[in-house]
Amino acid sequence: MPALDAISGDAVFTWHGVTPRLDPTVDAFAVTKETFRRQLDAIEKRFDIVPLTTIAKGRGTGCNGRRLLAALTLDDALRCQAEHAIPLIRDRQLPFTICVPTDAMSAGLPLWSLLLRYCVSTTAPKILNLGCMQVNLAVSAECRRVLIGPVLSLVGNLSGSERQPVLDQIFSQCRDVLPAALQHEAFQPMNWDELDQVRGPGCDIASHSCAHGSLLREDEISLMRETRISKRIIEARTGIPCSVFCFPYGDYDAESLAAARDAGYRWLLTTCGTTVDAFGGDIVPRIDACTLVG
Ligand SMILES: [Zn+2]
Repeated sequence: MPALDAISGDAVFTWHGVTPRLDPTVDAFAVTKETFRRQLDAIEKRFDIVPLTTIAKGRGTGCNGRRLLAALTLDDALRCQAEHAIPLIRDRQLPFTICVPTDAMSAGLPLWSLLLRYCVSTTAPKILNLGCMQVNLAVSAECRRVLIGPVLSLVGNLSGSERQPVLDQIFSQCRDVLPAALQHEAFQPMNWDELDQVRGPGCDIASHSCAHGSLLREDEISLMRETRISKRIIEARTGIPCSVFCFPYGDYDAESLAAARDAGYRWLLTTCGTTVDAFGGDIVPRIDACTLVG
């Protein structure tokens, strides 16, 4: 876990949920509004905040005694970001980038990964049938928390076409908590009108794919959809060019990189906790703010 004070290069920070209260059982990557404010204070004190593309283009030139640069990104286009994070960013007139998963926004439904975490965390004790394996949820809360990670990676590592039937099967076994998951305030995506309202000077829109699955298992057609079609949808909806692609979960390989480049993106975001100089070319690493200490 990096401490903000120990970061010694230019950096891109990212946030997911920003909420009044935290429930780490169901939302592992969120921070409270108060933490977000404190982190923004600390980042502003130590860094000059610039657009993402300024940092991406300027890599390799060294810091040479100048103040460090930082860029701000918000992943998943969540309504709680519009309510609790973007007003603070706007008050300070800072540039930022929103990474948009187009399916969730268009459907008005939370990301499948958030629903899955909530369901596995909170459904009544039972044997959960995942198709290829069964998971015993009739265990202590602590054991259940340990089980969430493997369930998420098992489902996350399926291709998009394999994943949906498995999700349907899981959600049908979690009907006791699915309505609460669907309405959880931290999970709601913005719709396109809400995105329009929070856009404005200094706000750039990146694609965060269509379906928000890991792109490591997708075939060529799905990769094209996730990269090319999401770009077209964003450009058609916003009327501005979309030149940044943000890999869901930071996952990429040779095929998904090629698909994103073929789709015409100039910058490709991942999340690996390093300063931007750790990578060259068009791949831009980010630091997830929920991992910052201090
Ligand atoms: Zn995401």
